[in-house]
Formats: sequence, C-alpha cells, structure tokens
Amino acid sequence: MQQITVPAYGKINLTLDITGKREDGYHELVTLMQQVELHDDVRIRLSPKKRISVLSDHESVPRDAANIAYRAAQELLCFAGLDLTGLNYGIDIFIAKRIPVEGGMAGGSANAAAVLKGLNRLLNLNLSTEELMRIGLRLGADVPYCIFGGTAVARGIGEILTRVPSPPTMWMVLVKPDFGVSTALVYKNFSFHERLCRPDLDLVLNGIERGEIVDIYRGMGNVLESVTLRLYPVLQDIKRRLADWGAEAVLMSGSGPTVCAFTRSPELAKDLCATAQRNFPASYRVVTTNTISVGEEGNISARAE
Ligand code: ATP
Repeated sequence: MQQITVPAYGKINLTLDITGKREDGYHELVTLMQQVELHDDVRIRLSPKKRISVLSDHESVPRDAANIAYRAAQELLCFAGLDLTGLNYGIDIFIAKRIPVEGGMAGGSANAAAVLKGLNRLLNLNLSTEELMRIGLRLGADVPYCIFGGTAVARGIGEILTRVPSPPTMWMVLVKPDFGVSTALVYKNFSFHERLCRPDLDLVLNGIERGEIVDIYRGMGNVLESVTLRLYPVLQDIKRRLADWGAEAVLMSGSGPTVCAFTRSPELAKDLCATAQRNFPASYRVVTTNTISVGEEGNISARAE
C-alpha cells in the first residue's frame, strides 16, 4: 500500500464546563464531545522525496511544520524510531478542507489524528489506539479525542476519555462567521466569575439514555460562550437569528466562533440552512451536518505513563 485517505471528522461540544486551572496554566475541563459527519479528507502518500510535505486546498492551512498534520507525521516517525534520512521514502500529506478553520471544531486536531491513524496503517507499525492517543496528546489536547471518536466525556485537559452512548442522530446547521477565534485567547479571557451557561451533563446523559432530545437540549451549555460572545458580539446576533428561524437549540462549539443550530429532522435542518445562507453575508460558512457515532474502544486515558 502506497497511499491511504482517512476521513478527519469535526467535533462539537454538547457540554463544556471548566472546573479548575492547573499550575502549568492549562484549564481542567469536563466536556461531552460529539463527532459530526462534516469531515476533511486527509490523503497520505509515500513518495520518493525523503521529506514530509503538506498541501491543502484551503489558503489558511499552513504548508510547513506549522501544520499540526506535519508535526503528527514527525512525532509518529520519532515514536517508531524511524528517521526520514535513513528511509527510502518521504511522506506527502494532502488535506481537502471542509471543517471551518479556527472554528472551534478541532479541524487541525482531526487532521493530526488522521495522519497518526493513516501512517500507522501505511507503514504497518501496528501501534495500538492507546499509543496513538499518547502521541496525539503531545500535539494537542483534542487530538486523543479525535483518535477515539464518537461520543465521549473528556476530562483533565481533554485527554481522559470515557465512552458514553451516542445521542439519537441530531441534525444541525453550522454557522462560521468570516473570522477565526484563537482558542488560547478565549481561555486567557475566561474567568471563573463569568462562568455562565453552565451545562448539566447528567441531564444530557439521561436524555441520551432515554432518547429524550428535549433533555439533551436543556442540559447543553458551554461556559466559553460568554467569553467569546463578549469578544465578538456579532455571535449574539447570529444565535438569536437562528433561534428566530426555528432552531430548537443553539450552542457555540468549543471556543467558537462556530455556532450550531440544532433541529430534530434533516428537512428542518435543510430549510434552516437555506434561510441562513440567504440572510447571512456570503462570506459566512453555513453548512448542515449530523452527529455520527463511531469508535468501539472502552475508556482510555492518553496520559503518559
Ligand atoms: P480547536 O477547536 O482545537 O481549538 P480550531 O478548529 O478552532 O481548533 P483549527 O482549524 O485547528 O482551529 O486551526 C487553528 C490554527 O492552527 C489555525 O490558525 C491554523 O493556521 C493552524 N493550523 C495548523 N494546522 C492546521 C490544519 N491542519 N488545519 C487547520 N488549521 C491548522
């Protein structure tokens, strides 16, 4: 096998609460992560040129070592004790980008996870999911989850993952305005006094168990919303308009700015998407997607031993 294409799925946070701050500056969180169908395609190819190269069809995606996918390939080779100069091949990575960049949907982390999984197969390294997640954690806090996939509660800085049942398929319209948000900036501006919109994780998990979508909606919440909405007030307006147009629940994903408007049916999502596309500026990214449930592994911690 010389080439492999791996889907890199985006995520949303159905709940996100911050529970503490570590001495190293990282925030401790409890978040219900949910994979969505919207995905990038990451093509990995062994090439005769002995170097790693990254290309993408999206102008904002870095084409050098600043790309987290590039660093994922480096870290994997290093972990496997492989040195590119001693090999008779190089690695070409091509990212077909659909997940909004700097959108709070872990697009870069998903790309890194796809490279780790894809190269593991392409090079027949036979590394376990746990090993890949441990390598992933060196690249970013969301990478272990992107390897794990499906529906999971993430704790710690995001690396302690507990598999939970998936919700019934939920449809949503994603609206990403024409600016990105730096995750680091949002966390820097977060203060425990401003911890509004706290989620009720138990209510959401009960709702999932009993198939009660209304309880899932009622329990949703993201404590980073108040920070990002204060920094970018236009998001308030986007949320309000989506609710006015019939969204059953509206929530920002991660550190934003992507806003998710939920509906129970694909038809409603399609209508809402068309309304949003007509009314928001053409420079906004408006797409519809649904939740997916994948991943069979049990509970995994990517903490280094
Ligand atoms: P998160 O939800 O994990 O906070 P995000 O989805 O908000 O992340 P990304 O799309 O991953 O943000 O991009 C964050 C930054 O990382 C961008 O400024 C971008 O230049 C850089 N970057 C590096 N590698 C990638 C990649 N493969 N895809 C997208 N952005 C990347």
